Amino acid sequence: MTISVRTFLSVVLSTALIIILSACGGSDNSSTQGAAAEQQTFKWKLVTTWPKNFPGLGVAPENFATLVDRMSNGRLKVKVYAAGEIVPALEVFSAVSSGTAEMGHGAAYYWKGKIPAAPFFTSVPFGLNAQEMNGWLHHGGGLELWRELYAPFNLVPMAGGNTGIQMGGWFNKELNSIDDFKGLKMRIPGLGGEVFTRAGGTAVNMPGGEIFTSLQTGVIDAAEWVAPYNDLAFGFHNVAKYYYYPGWQEPGPTLELIINKSAYDSLPDDLVAIVEAAARTINQDMLDKYTSRNNAALIELEKSGVELRRYPDEVIKRLRETAQQVMAENVANDAMFKKIYTSYDAYRQQVIAYHKISEEAYFDIRND
Ligand code: CA
Repeated sequence: MTISVRTFLSVVLSTALIIILSACGGSDNSSTQGAAAEQQTFKWKLVTTWPKNFPGLGVAPENFATLVDRMSNGRLKVKVYAAGEIVPALEVFSAVSSGTAEMGHGAAYYWKGKIPAAPFFTSVPFGLNAQEMNGWLHHGGGLELWRELYAPFNLVPMAGGNTGIQMGGWFNKELNSIDDFKGLKMRIPGLGGEVFTRAGGTAVNMPGGEIFTSLQTGVIDAAEWVAPYNDLAFGFHNVAKYYYYPGWQEPGPTLELIINKSAYDSLPDDLVAIVEAAARTINQDMLDKYTSRNNAALIELEKSGVELRRYPDEVIKRLRETAQQVMAENVANDAMFKKIYTSYDAYRQQVIAYHKISEEAYFDIRND
């Protein structure tokens, strides 16, 4: 009995020793691999569609680079380039797709000519606001669809900022009916541009840095950009008189960070987590900044003589009907547009149902 207990204990102990030794061996291996990954450093270029250090939009990728540097203890260095430094603003997508730069920061709807469904990931006229958009992207299947849409271009997209609802735009004449859009040439990208063209105007897509001169020289008659905090920085009040609201064309626009797929795949897992976490941080931080700064900028614009105008109800009604036609036609013409619309619209309907008794109901009681 004593012997058998001793034998049993000896078997148990030697088994335990083997387990401990093999566990140590495994741990040694993984810590060696971990140490190798920890020593590997990456230097990336991030090209943007914005002027250098432009408030909000241009600062966001700089903040991303700083965060990633600190979180990775300098293992991932990202250098940010303004529009035109390596590639022009509207060539950011191609540059990252081909690997000229590892990353880009811009807006998905700039690539509508290449990818009809891309505007879903910026903003849809009369669609989701910022809060709702973040919900769809991160907990409603939106991000997965965005990655599927960009996969053929060797790109991994993620949200990289949101301006909140924008303004309707800058005009030099008053808009009393939908007929006042006739003959107007306006900088208004994405699906908003399609709606504007359908309403009788001519939509133009151009990067922010070209808008002021184009308005000043009459290349365009009107322009939408962002909201007071950004529009003041570009000085549009010096070349346009009427500032219309609300921004029916962009109710909650998301900015995008795009990463070349091969570069993304080359990162160890912890750096991937750092990149994703830093993107989520700048995505929320941009919205916080616009929310905090817009009203002070609006007061300054009004002091300089800008006349604030609300779009007439009849104009809004016609634009909303036109937007529905534009969406239906795109659904009929493009399979990915239809697939993404199905997800977006189902999410939109349920979020509207709940926001009627939450956000909207609260705004009503607060403001009365
Ligand atoms: Ca805009």
